[in-house]
Amino acid sequence: MEPILHVSNLWFHYQPDEVPKEKWALKDIQLTIGAGEYVSIVGPNGSGKSTLARILAGLYLPTEGDVHVCGRATSNEQELWQIRRRVGIVFQNPDNQIVAPTVQDDVAFGLENMGLPRDEMRARVAHALQLVGLVGLEEREPHHLSGGQKQRLAIAGIVAMQPDVILFDEATSMLDPQGRSEVSQLIQSLNQLGTTVIHITHSAIEAFMAERMIVMADGQIKLDAPVAELYPEAMKLKEWDLDVPLEVELHHRLIGAGWPMRASITSKEDL
Ligand code: ADP
Repeated sequence: MEPILHVSNLWFHYQPDEVPKEKWALKDIQLTIGAGEYVSIVGPNGSGKSTLARILAGLYLPTEGDVHVCGRATSNEQELWQIRRRVGIVFQNPDNQIVAPTVQDDVAFGLENMGLPRDEMRARVAHALQLVGLVGLEEREPHHLSGGQKQRLAIAGIVAMQPDVILFDEATSMLDPQGRSEVSQLIQSLNQLGTTVIHITHSAIEAFMAERMIVMADGQIKLDAPVAELYPEAMKLKEWDLDVPLEVELHHRLIGAGWPMRASITSKEDL
């Protein structure tokens, strides 16, 4: 089966000048992700996680190397709009993702240019709002929602576009514990419904909710392995509710157990 994302020999730098290659933001990334996978990406700040996410979403083009999404190369400009429709990205700050004056208009926003019949648009908005648990708030002003609700609204806008892949770039880090728990669980259910999920996170619990974990440092992939192999106990976490004391305790236990991430992570805060 064709992988949904395929990255080969990817190098990337932001500056057009003569930056030595060892300082590039991404260095020789090789990555294949299959349809339906649930992958977490962790690593210290500045290790290249967000840059990689934006390249996978077709927002930046590789400086060198190739990126294929659903078999289409991002280097082909004619394919790029298709790729952007197939890969959704949820960012850190929910306030920056609000685009319309009501909840339902916000979800419909991305659909406006797709040329869909009105009925289908309405059905997609209703379905997305149901999936993220915002039914009954259709007329509400998005700015009056809680942080977790705003982030679920951003996710609804993406779900309505019916992408194959959704990337979450620290999408829970600005939320309170309840919001984080709601959004993490929603991410998990989206994957269970068949969406390929890539979750960039600093939370150990969230990272372990995935099936496969990628550790980045210094613009490179340092580790790419099934979660079950990294830490068998992590399998039990899938049933736990997220809360802050548990998260702190988990970090201590993981580091005490010689978690493989220790090699590339410089401090507990970097997890
Ligand atoms: P992470 O998401 O792991 O924190 P980033 O992908 O944001 O890492 O950053 C990788 C590297 O690229 C860092 O050295 C960072 O300073 C640099 N970088 C990120 N965004 C920009 C930008 N817009 N312009 C220039 N350099 C950037």
